[in-house]
Amino acid sequence: MAARPTPYLDDLNPAQREAVLALDGPVLMLAGAGTGKTKALTARIVHLLTTGRARPNEILAVTFTNKAAREMKDRVGRMLGQVEGLQWMGTFHSISVKILRRHAELVGLKSNFTILDTDDQLRLLKQLIVAANIDEKRWPARMLAGLIDGWKNRAWTPAKVPASEASAYNNRGTELYEQYQDRLKALNATDFGDLLLHVVTIFQAHPDVLAQYQRWLKFILVDEYQDTNVAQYLWLRLLAQAHKNICCVGDDDQSIYGWRGAEVGNILRFEKDFPGAVVIRLEQNYRSTPHILAAASGIIAANANRLGKTLWTERDEGEKVRLIGHWDGEEEARWIGDEVEALQKGTRRIDPQGLDSMAILVRASHQMRAFEDRFLTIGLPYRVIGGPRFYERLEIRDAMAYFRLAVSPEDDLAFERVVNTPKRGLGDKAQQDIQREARAQGLPLLDGARALLARGAIGGKGAGQLRAFVEGMDRWHRVTHQQGHNHIALAETILEESGYTAMWQQDKTPEAPGRLENLKELVKALEQFENLQGFLEHVSLIMENETEEAAQKVSIMTLHAAKGLEFPVVFLPGWEDGLFPSQRSMDESGLKGLEEERRLAYVGITRAEVLCTVSFAANRRVYGQWQSALPSRFIDELPADHVDVLTPPGLYGGGFGAAGMASAMDARVASADVYNSPGWKRMQDRAATRPVSQPRETRHVTIDLDAVSSFTLGDRVFHVKFGYGAVVAIEGDKLDVDFEQAGLKKIVARFVVAAAA
Ligand code: ATP
Ligand code: MG
Repeated sequence: MAARPTPYLDDLNPAQREAVLALDGPVLMLAGAGTGKTKALTARIVHLLTTGRARPNEILAVTFTNKAAREMKDRVGRMLGQVEGLQWMGTFHSISVKILRRHAELVGLKSNFTILDTDDQLRLLKQLIVAANIDEKRWPARMLAGLIDGWKNRAWTPAKVPASEASAYNNRGTELYEQYQDRLKALNATDFGDLLLHVVTIFQAHPDVLAQYQRWLKFILVDEYQDTNVAQYLWLRLLAQAHKNICCVGDDDQSIYGWRGAEVGNILRFEKDFPGAVVIRLEQNYRSTPHILAAASGIIAANANRLGKTLWTERDEGEKVRLIGHWDGEEEARWIGDEVEALQKGTRRIDPQGLDSMAILVRASHQMRAFEDRFLTIGLPYRVIGGPRFYERLEIRDAMAYFRLAVSPEDDLAFERVVNTPKRGLGDKAQQDIQREARAQGLPLLDGARALLARGAIGGKGAGQLRAFVEGMDRWHRVTHQQGHNHIALAETILEESGYTAMWQQDKTPEAPGRLENLKELVKALEQFENLQGFLEHVSLIMENETEEAAQKVSIMTLHAAKGLEFPVVFLPGWEDGLFPSQRSMDESGLKGLEEERRLAYVGITRAEVLCTVSFAANRRVYGQWQSALPSRFIDELPADHVDVLTPPGLYGGGFGAAGMASAMDARVASADVYNSPGWKRMQDRAATRPVSQPRETRHVTIDLDAVSSFTLGDRVFHVKFGYGAVVAIEGDKLDVDFEQAGLKKIVARFVVAAAA
């Protein structure tokens, strides 16, 4: 073969090159974050094509997201010029759909089968549950859906579910699973989990079909292998077992989908399944500075269950990982917004950064609201990756429509949006009647509905519910005119009395809890405004401004969505126990959940190239009540030598802004801030001791001032959790304090500070 130029090999290190050149037989690239696994995998594709070992349609390349597949295609394209026919490059699901369409009849489907979404899936399960005389309240459809999904992830068809699972779902699980599969077949439909399962079933039952794909798909490449589940693993093994030309790359420390059935064990089994596999370990990290790398390594070292590996880098030392505590979540968002702007100008020790270079990675999507709000307010362009932006979400737009209608009863668009959400038994006909009546009389829709009701012209069960809706709106509207009314309470009342919150509480889809969280977040956002009107103006103005497309945007996404990506500047907010690690992982017995959270922390830090900032807030406000939060246990695990502790601007002299605290208090609060927490002290005092991964006893963040002297009756005081109150009794070092929000509490004197009267 004529020698061709191989620029794609020139910028690889020897280990990567080995992974690229070893085209025949199994290859496992097991290496830490940023070591160039994805880069080497891409080069391998280029090499296969350049050397003529494979045509584009003979390469099966599996990535974790469609976005990753597109990026890989683009990269190959950039190296080789436009490449046609890389049709087997995609996710397990997208590739499975393609295969299944061709062979649907082998599992009793037609090739035009539909793929059910979660809503349809749950509706179908509900029907079966009702027909089986099972109390859906005690045994929710969502539970059954989760169970079936788990079985499908393990590649268990109904016939293969082991006897040990017989007690699942009140002993009826397997039976319902079988019925469900029959119904799907009758409907010519599949759910998401079926896509893989059916393909595996076909491959297992029809060796001729399998052999055909084994012949076609000569080379198999898999990125993010640590997150494959059993069904995906079988799928791969079946396709690879004839030619064994399979190259998998992964990092056990980045396995973050255990909750969805991924099995890190698949990595460990690779060498057993494919004896003689070339195992390549990459240790040089090209992405991050030494401080960032050391911080990430320090955290992940606390996990007991890992293969363990060393990473090094030749990059310049750079900045330490920055750690900053804030008074509350709003301040955290404000600070990050300011930082982003400062970094854009290049006022820091790193070069000016474009917005595309910066990302904010959150643990839970409801955290995004505070950032979106802040960025919209200061006009900072941003994009949310992996979901709609906060104010564009369905439940938020519904809730806002309720608020709009309460403020302006003539807002017909808002009326249309919510009059039958939740369902009020109003059919198309009733809604058209309202439209016609309103138009005929020149009235807003709300008044049109009122007029129809007065005439008794709305029939059926809808009439009573529509009346309740109209009367509710009247009531809420009157409140908006009352001087000094509590608009936060009003917003909560509207969502509750209208049945909107209840609608999501009763909804058993996996999205419902997130939607309820978002509604809570929305109410939280109101606290910065005087009334609903002001808030609505704020949102409409900022949404308006947002329509023009900015060239560069800062990215906001969850840690899960950030897998495989990299950004020069990364912000990791909300490192508080209960948020990150999640409450659920902390409540769990055993360390499995906590270790997965820790891997998520590792993924987060290793996304950063030059600047990584971890932050936490000492308080989060939930429904107008302060809740103190404890700095994440992961903060304790950050190696102190690689961390720079920043002083939050609000703490010394600057005042707490929106928190509205008397500035006279600042100096005292300064010494009483979160840095006095035991967790914090431990961090500073830490010698070279290795972090412990055991869950610790609860830590308390309290105001801990030596300076507090004697109080006298009637003194106004402040407590970090309970807020402001008055001293009503004194007993030794204990005070009875009547808190404005929290009521009467007994408090140790040193845990409160004097506040300006
Ligand atoms: P992750 O585990 O986060 O998915 P990864 O191992 O897939 O990381 P890549 O994304 O492939 O790592 O590479 C990380 C960065 O290092 C990229 O910017 C890539 O271009 C760069 N890089 C990889 N290998 C080399 C190399 N040999 N020389 C220079 N830069 C490299
Ligand atoms: Mg990668």
